[in-house]
Amino acid sequence: MTIKKNEISLSGMFPEEIQNFCGLKEKFRAEQIFRWIASGVHSFDDMTNLSFDMRSKLKKDFSLFSTKIKETLKDKDGTIKLAVELYDGSVIETVLLTDKAKRKTACVSCQAGCPMKCAFCKTGQIGFLRNLSASEIVEQFLHLEREAGALDNIVFMGMGEPMLNLNEIDKAIKILAHPKGRNLSKRRITISTSGLCEGIYDMADKGPEVRLAVSLTTADEVLRSELMPVNKTNSLDELKQAIKYFNSKSNKRVTLELALMKGLNTDKKAAQQVMEFAKGLECFINLIPWNPVEGLNFKSPSEAEVRNFENYLKKAGLNISTRQKRGQKIGGACGQLGSTASKIKQALIQRENPV
Ligand code: SAH
Ligand code: SF4
Repeated sequence: MTIKKNEISLSGMFPEEIQNFCGLKEKFRAEQIFRWIASGVHSFDDMTNLSFDMRSKLKKDFSLFSTKIKETLKDKDGTIKLAVELYDGSVIETVLLTDKAKRKTACVSCQAGCPMKCAFCKTGQIGFLRNLSASEIVEQFLHLEREAGALDNIVFMGMGEPMLNLNEIDKAIKILAHPKGRNLSKRRITISTSGLCEGIYDMADKGPEVRLAVSLTTADEVLRSELMPVNKTNSLDELKQAIKYFNSKSNKRVTLELALMKGLNTDKKAAQQVMEFAKGLECFINLIPWNPVEGLNFKSPSEAEVRNFENYLKKAGLNISTRQKRGQKIGGACGQLGSTASKIKQALIQRENPV
């Protein structure tokens, strides 16, 4: 049963778990393995401070990684998109973004597919297969670091809704932030939600203590419910209360993300509704001009349309940034993940029609 062996990989374990799982007598051995994994080593053979015998034994019985890179796509603008195959054969996507200041950000997935069905997002169109495990999340980050060197930030803005998989995300973050491992600063980690209030309260109360982004898209109740079904059960009022609670509990500002679509959510009235929503919140606003998705009937806004919208909000004293277009050519920009959809769909069909 090699599949079983690969399903459980050491990359998603704390040192104490590695010690128990591998039956190691000494704690420091587990810590050595933990540190090697965080440093990007993919094979026990490279763990040179373990004896040859120990390496051979561990290699026979345990897996460091449960995923492998299936495809690597690189854009001229520095974006790298990896198709990552999971132990069960399904495939997810993870992206490296490089900004003008050369800061590198891993944009990782937390689910295979997504159940939220946002009308403008490619991942939302393919359906939901399953949550990813902590190891499958950690490994996306480590695969990207192997491709591109040390990364500065990690954002949970790939495939999936983080609030539906907060426990595994929390574990992955604790592993990546562990002082004996990768030691990534929590200030450099952001979780983005489509607006599940319960998850926002949970995160405020129990962590992870990282930054929060909320995909507001529009502050028009009717339009938001049409674009994002989550709004039907998590109204704008409830969402605002949840963000306020997060502000006061965490002492952190929240980023409100607005995917802008031509002629839909970019006029003066739309800006006024956003200003009204932002009143009383500690927030930044991040505008994301809509990235094209085949088969969807939305249009990207013109530059003038984005600038006008930005100016309305700036006049109200809001703190605005506009996301640069990155990785569009390789389908690696926001909302474009899902070219691996056929693999996910295949698995969904198999699950519904087991042989
Ligand atoms: N599921 C999470 C995080 C992933 S989506 C969430 O929805 O927050 C990351 C961001 O991309 C979200 O703000 C989402 O609204 C936006 N987005 C989705 N599809 C898009 C598209 N085609 N073009 C631009 N932004 C898009
Ligand atoms: Fe899921 Fe986010 Fe896409 Fe909505 S925007 S379908 S929550 S990945």
